[in-house]
Amino acid sequence: MVVGVLALQGSFNEHIAVLRRLGVKGVEVRKPEQLQSVRALIIPGGESTTMAKLAEYHNLFPALREFVKMGNPVWGTCAGLIFLADKAVGQKAGGQELIGGLNCTVHRNFFGSQIQSFETELSVPEIVAKEGGPPSFRGVFIRAPGILEVGPEVQVLAEVLLPSDRPAKRSAASENLEEEAVAEKKVIVAVKQGTLLATAFHPELTADTRWHSYFLKMLDEDSQEASSSMALSSGN
Ligand code: GLN
Repeated sequence: MVVGVLALQGSFNEHIAVLRRLGVKGVEVRKPEQLQSVRALIIPGGESTTMAKLAEYHNLFPALREFVKMGNPVWGTCAGLIFLADKAVGQKAGGQELIGGLNCTVHRNFFGSQIQSFETELSVPEIVAKEGGPPSFRGVFIRAPGILEVGPEVQVLAEVLLPSDRPAKRSAASENLEEEAVAEKKVIVAVKQGTLLATAFHPELTADTRWHSYFLKMLDEDSQEASSSMALSSGN
């Protein structure tokens, strides 16, 4: 099984290292044609505007959108989540190009700047149910985005309570959707929508391999679905 890791910028090496620990080959993807030889793709964290510029330079957007549309498993972490979202707010005028496909609105720097990066324990019942292990996960949030709104087909996997210093910081920004999130005092940080997985934090920077292993199981589900629909269409 070969999994592609978008290697334009950011923490792609760390994802490849975790895949290796799980016995899976991760290959760096920088060109559109390289997507043809992988079954799934991880889009790492980094800086989403830089990543978008590089993706544009390498003419990757059409191939990435097609890859998502074809139903291949894709996991976006942090900047990768922003890339997969249908809509991103909290960015400079003009914004950045997104791959889209994940029906959600994301705030690019929801948790603030680099110095407001933090770590916290996350409860993710869906992954504990599939992967076992300890009841919580270490969430490493670096200039992290937050998910403000999700469509009905999106499964929420994890939320965090807002750190106590956040409301003051966030009121400096002026997005209406943010105000609603403040009122709720928690924000969505991990979601799944069909073959798409997205996390606002960085599992590849922890020793816990359960997120990667969960993602790899999505590949199995994907091929089972493909083979059962082939069996149906061939009358078996
Ligand atoms: N907020 C960053 C961005 O806009 C993402 C940070 C990260 O990937 N660690 O791209």
